[in-house]
Amino acid sequence: MGNPKAFLEIHRQEAGYRPIHDRIHDFGEVEQTLNTKERKAQASRCMDCGVPFCHWACPLGNKPPEWNDALYRGDWELAYRLLNATNPFPEFTGRICPALCEKACILNLIEHEPTTNREDEASITEAAFREGYVITHHPKRNGKRVAVIGAGPAGLAAANDLNLKGYEVTVYDRHEAAGGLLRYGIPNFKLNKAIIDRRMKVLYDEGIKFVFEADIDLQHLSLANEFDAVVIATGTPTARDLKIPGRELKGVHFALDILSQQNRILDGIEFKKDEIVTAKGKDVLVIGGGDTGSDCIGTAHRQGCKSVTQIEIMPKPPVGPEDPKNPWPAYPRTLKTTSSHEEGCTRRWNINSLEFIGKDGKLTGVRVQEIDWKPNPEGGRPLMVEKGKPEIIKAELVLLAMGFLKPEHPQYPKNVFVCGDAANGASLVVRALASGKQTAAKVDDFLKK
Ligand code: FAD
Repeated sequence: MGNPKAFLEIHRQEAGYRPIHDRIHDFGEVEQTLNTKERKAQASRCMDCGVPFCHWACPLGNKPPEWNDALYRGDWELAYRLLNATNPFPEFTGRICPALCEKACILNLIEHEPTTNREDEASITEAAFREGYVITHHPKRNGKRVAVIGAGPAGLAAANDLNLKGYEVTVYDRHEAAGGLLRYGIPNFKLNKAIIDRRMKVLYDEGIKFVFEADIDLQHLSLANEFDAVVIATGTPTARDLKIPGRELKGVHFALDILSQQNRILDGIEFKKDEIVTAKGKDVLVIGGGDTGSDCIGTAHRQGCKSVTQIEIMPKPPVGPEDPKNPWPAYPRTLKTTSSHEEGCTRRWNINSLEFIGKDGKLTGVRVQEIDWKPNPEGGRPLMVEKGKPEIIKAELVLLAMGFLKPEHPQYPKNVFVCGDAANGASLVVRALASGKQTAAKVDDFLKK
């Protein structure tokens, strides 16, 4: 597999991002691509390592050594077949997956230069769409009907597998188009929405039915009587709030208020002037240090903010593995610098927010307190200790990016299954896809009995 000695001669090469001065003015995807020769050389670094930790690290069980070998040999069609055998939508993960496989790659352990699986995956899939290797299947129907609620990655993955198994699948979503957070959360500079539309055409052509702007009442699930089985893939719609004094001030928003609106604006949807949440000309404070916060930073830059600061209540993560003698990767606890951070941002850790401050009903800043985390002598959660005096961070726009609450579900009848973030809490696209596929297999088992 691959070229067993290539990793000794060829270093990891990432395609990198478009230059900041170029990308900061538009919402086009920031990531660039390597040329074919360079891409094949990168694929050749995936050696037959004997113990492929990548398979185990990937929730989908993707097998990079197999498709990297095909890519290295120039068989792009085979590479896509092998990739698509475990991953229904590699064009999504190829763009936005944190690539758990790369963290587990043996070359990461040896020399911190893992194979470029995520980028290889994106290149293989683009070639597949370009060259016509993405085939439309026309499955033989088995007479049974399944409803899927939620057209995010989990729901689409479940619908795709069930449809291919012969079920007649109808997907319901409260939004006006498919994708869930892929479309109404993740900014276009990470994932162009035409990529979702392209996959949707395949799913439509294969016979899946979609009903949009259908807000299904999950407490009284009448669909369970109408269909042989129901899959709930409704994500985690409730964002964690910060209920401190001043929360009602104009200028305090949830991250998704700005992210989903910006994506809709780019999709041609018009909003009234007073409905628009914009960072233009403002000092922006993002509260929360994860992916959502980072996407707010990139969006604020592109909207023309004056400045952007990101605060996080937790301590700054280590830059590399905490213990140099420990060869295992420290991910996800290491410091992550995204393309949005590169574009400019003041990042601070160990900061607790005390109060939103405003004038005439409008936000002007946030009173914050630097803290330290001390071990708890009684065990359990570390203790928060104040450090110095509170200070005010100036801000006309605050974006709350502190995660999402795990939904609670009523006791459903036996033919109802829950998957994706709705079942596991807010996570990753790759986990949502894996969960959707696993749930499709469970539905199939249930309906075959
Ligand atoms: P969702 O994507 O949330 O989809 C749920 C769908 O259900 C939605 O379309 C919703 O409209 C619909 N729905 C909900 N309730 C109902 C109802 N009652 N009736 C009808 N329809 C309903 N993950 C990564 O791997 N990489 C990233 O870079 C990344 N960036 C992210 C950035 C942001 C800003 C956010 C918020 C998340 C990010 N994630 C990322 C996480 C990832 O997007 C989610 O884990 C994934 O989308 C979950 O998929 P899902 O299908 O379970 O739910």
